[in-house]
Amino acid sequence: MNMIEVENLTYSYDGTNDVLKGVSFQIEKGSYTTIVGHNGSGKSTIAKLLIGLMEAKAGTITVDGIKLDEKTVYEIRDKIGIVFQNPDNQFIGATVADDIAFGLENHQVEQEKMQGIIEEYAERVNMLKYLNSEPTKLSGGQKQRVAIASVLAIAPQIMIFDESTSMLDPQGKAEINALIHNIHRETNMTIVSITHDIEEMASSDHVIVMGKGNVVMDGTPDMILKREKELIDLQLDIPFSLKFINEMKKYDIHLKEEIKMENQTLMQYFEWYLPADGNHWTRLAEDAQHLADLGIRKVWMPPAFKATNKDDVGYGVYDLFDLGEFDQKGTVRTKYGLKEEYLNAINQL
Ligand code: ADP
Repeated sequence: MNMIEVENLTYSYDGTNDVLKGVSFQIEKGSYTTIVGHNGSGKSTIAKLLIGLMEAKAGTITVDGIKLDEKTVYEIRDKIGIVFQNPDNQFIGATVADDIAFGLENHQVEQEKMQGIIEEYAERVNMLKYLNSEPTKLSGGQKQRVAIASVLAIAPQIMIFDESTSMLDPQGKAEINALIHNIHRETNMTIVSITHDIEEMASSDHVIVMGKGNVVMDGTPDMILKREKELIDLQLDIPFSLKFINEMKKYDIHLKEEIKMENQTLMQYFEWYLPADGNHWTRLAEDAQHLADLGIRKVWMPPAFKATNKDDVGYGVYDLFDLGEFDQKGTVRTKYGLKEEYLNAINQL
């Protein structure tokens, strides 16, 4: 079932130049959709139109089966929570608790229920101990978490994130991305995220690529990431993990193309098929350096690796640092020890 249906949406800020030129797409209920595209391609304009902040020049928007117009705009807004880009513009209250309360008051939540709801959602975003903190005392990531709590507290069916992590440092970005994924997993809420974060795009269910006011691609991340050249032409980058695979191919190392990004620590799980040139260990040392240059800090080695040195080396999660430390006999020394310990380490991930 579609939660959002956009048909032939056209919009102009100045009445002459159309910044959206007949945009159509559907977003399935419960999906995690990312909208990507170069600056000025119309992404934020779509978000503003979805919540009825502006009136479309032409076309229709239907949310949860209700067509957006001046009569239904408030009903539709109740279904949608939106978190914007700038953490400093998100805060309305004097404290974290006030901020979450603000949205609840707007939704006529009874006073006696409010404290419980505030605590529940502050805890949900790991901000419970900051309930009485002032915004100035919080980091950008913490402010965004409060913004997310404030929106979650009013129980929307759809959450829109409009470049909500673009002003955060890598750690803040990773935390917010992880939080959004958890919310999605636990609530099955429909998530729409406007993002420049290609990793986030790669981990979503559905991608809409905008270019100059049009939808230029629409599909699963797998389908879209195959169109590397077009993405680059649209000034979008391919994800780090794909770049990594391509880079490794240059060194004749073929990776299984199923890499999951964990977070900004760049933990990679991959299969590393060593070339059968009998010179694995020298190669490994060189390759470890290439990996380090690419920012990889941990690698996971599968049975293919084991097969080359049955007795010494098993499956493993290796710290890259350790990967460089092996002797010519092929004993890789890692802080996890050998086989069993490796498996335990993997199971704990
Ligand atoms: P994106 O979110 O993809 O960066 P926007 O939707 O913000 O793109 O902008 C689409 C186009 O509309 C751009 O050319 C931008 O300059 C223009 N635009 C955005 N906001 C306004 C505004 N408030 N007034 C006039 N033009 C605007």
